[in-house]
Amino acid sequence: MIWYPYAQMKTMAPPLQVERAEGVLLHTDRGVLIDAVSSWWSTIHGYNHPVLNAAIADQLGKFAHVMLGGLTHEPVQKLTQKLSEWLPGDLDYCFYSDSGSVAVEVALKMALQYSVNRGRERRAVLALNDAHHGNGMDVRESERRTVLALQNAYHGDTFKAMEVGDDEDYHFAFAQKSGVVHIPTRIDALEKAFAEKGDSFYCMIVEPLLQGAGGMKMYDVSFLQRARELCDRHGVLLIFDEVATGFGRTGHRFAADLVLPDILVLGKALTGGYIGHAVTVARRKVFEAFYSDDPRMAFMHGPTFMGNALACRVALASVTLFEEQNYMQKIQHIQEVQRSALCGLCDERIKDVRVMGGCACIEVHDERSLCGFREYAVSRGVFCRPFGRILYAMVPYVIDDE
Ligand SMILES: *Cc1c(COP(=O)(O)O)cnc(C)c1O
Repeated sequence: MIWYPYAQMKTMAPPLQVERAEGVLLHTDRGVLIDAVSSWWSTIHGYNHPVLNAAIADQLGKFAHVMLGGLTHEPVQKLTQKLSEWLPGDLDYCFYSDSGSVAVEVALKMALQYSVNRGRERRAVLALNDAHHGNGMDVRESERRTVLALQNAYHGDTFKAMEVGDDEDYHFAFAQKSGVVHIPTRIDALEKAFAEKGDSFYCMIVEPLLQGAGGMKMYDVSFLQRARELCDRHGVLLIFDEVATGFGRTGHRFAADLVLPDILVLGKALTGGYIGHAVTVARRKVFEAFYSDDPRMAFMHGPTFMGNALACRVALASVTLFEEQNYMQKIQHIQEVQRSALCGLCDERIKDVRVMGGCACIEVHDERSLCGFREYAVSRGVFCRPFGRILYAMVPYVIDDE
C-alpha cells in the first residue's frame, strides 16, 4: 500500500491517476488538467521537456550515478562551475544532497560547526600567543547555540528543519522546540531579538520574501536588508532557504540577488522538477572556516546520492534554459496576468489577495470556504491543492495566456 503525504489515509480523497504529462498539462483519469501547483513548485519548464529529457537520456547512456566519496564526474563539476558563476557574490561552494530538507539540515549543521570551528581557531591562536584562555570572544563563539527563525516558517520535514519551522498544520504532533527563537517578519521584532540575544545566535534562517508552505506570506526586502546588517554586526550567519523562492518564483531570479546571504539553499526547481536534488551553497568565509590541516575542522556529511549524475545533468540543462530563454520576462508576464485577474477581486469570504512573481494566492477567512474547491477546479480543467485557508497557483513558467 502506498502511504501518501500529509494525509489522513482513512479520509483522504483518492488521488488523480496521471498517465502522461506534457508542458503545463497533466493527462489524468479525470481529464486533461492544467497543473497549478507545478508538482510542489518544481516543474518550472513544464513536463516532458525535450531539452531536459535529452540531457538525462544522454547521461543515462554513460552512467546514472556514482558516489562522490573518492569519485567525481563532469556533470557535478559543470553544474558547480555554472552555479558559482551564476549565483551572486562569492556563493561558490556547493554541497549537494537529495532533498530540500536535507539541504536545510546541511546548512544548519554547517552554520553550527562554523561557529565551533571559529572558537577552536581562536583558542589555538590564544594558546600560541600566551596562556590567556577564556578570552571573551572565544567563550562567546562556543556558546552560540540558538537559531533565529521566522514565525510561519517552513523549512522541511526532517527534525532540525521542523524545529526551525513554525507551522502548526504540519508539525503539531511534535510541538517541543528548543534552541530556536521565532519572530514575525517585522523590523522592530528583528531588532529586539538581536538586542536581547544577538550573541547567542549562530545563524538566522529565513525563506526570503515569500513564506510558502506557512501560508504564502509575503514580506518586504527591507526586513532582509536589516537582517543582513544585524547578522554582520553580531557575527551571525544568514541562511536563505530558497528551496521554494529560487529560480524566479518571487519575480527575482533569487532573493539572494537583492541581499547576499552567507549560505543559500536551493532545491525543488533546481532540476526543473525532474529528480529530487538540492544544494547548500556557502560563501568563501564559511568554506574557509572548515579549510584546515586539522581533520576535526572538516565537514562530516555525505548523502549517498549527493551529486547524482542524472540530477546534475538535468539541473545544468534547466539552469541553461532558464538563462537562455529569458524566464524572468515570462515570470514578469505571469505576474501581470495574475495581478489583473485577481486584484480587485472581493468577496466577504476573502481575507486577502496576494501576488508576487509566479505566485498568486487568495487567503480566505474560514477554511471551510475552500471545501469542494479542488473538485470544482478539476471540473474546470485545473489541478490545484489548497491548504488551510490558502488557495494558490504556482504555475509552470511555460504557461501561455490562454
Ligand atoms: C519544500 C521546501 C523544503 C523541503 O524540501 P524537500 O525537498 O521537500 O525536502 C525546504 N524549504 C522550503 C522553503 C520548502 O518550500
